[in-house]
Amino acid sequence: MESCIFCKIANKEIPSKVIYEDEKCLVFLDISPATKGHVLIIPKNHYADLFEIEESELFYLMGIAQKISQRLKDRLGFEGLNVVQNNGSIAGQTVFHYHIHLIPRYKDDQQKINWNPTNPSAEELDLLWQQLK
Ligand code: 5GP
Ligand code: ZN
Repeated sequence: MESCIFCKIANKEIPSKVIYEDEKCLVFLDISPATKGHVLIIPKNHYADLFEIEESELFYLMGIAQKISQRLKDRLGFEGLNVVQNNGSIAGQTVFHYHIHLIPRYKDDQQKINWNPTNPSAEELDLLWQQLK
């Protein structure tokens, strides 16, 4: 994908601060981090999102996510970590090349990565359950 910024990062046409690389993926610092140590994991192949990515690549990236999370924890000593992955603009995706965010969480980091819980009726939940099971 010629116009894709993360393809350009994967091809080294655009510089980035890479912390891990292999033949399949790249892990680099987010340019506008939510917290210290916020990194992005991308496949070198272009897939727009979760609906496009090959299952084997997805599994591979999740293994990398676990290893890099451990490295971040060992070196930064945070208290928790959010794994975030947005699909579609309505879900907050701004770069349409599949990526996983690893976002370390620190006491008093003032960040919010959350939703407002809703309160569906028992009937609504039942209908949804019928639809999805
Ligand atoms: P999204 O909102 O699509 O889930 O996340 C895109 C992320 O990519 C954002 O956190 C944004 O800061 C990061 N980002 C966008 N452009 C660049 C870039 O050129 N370099 C780096 N390192 N990160 C970028
Ligand atoms: Zn791309």
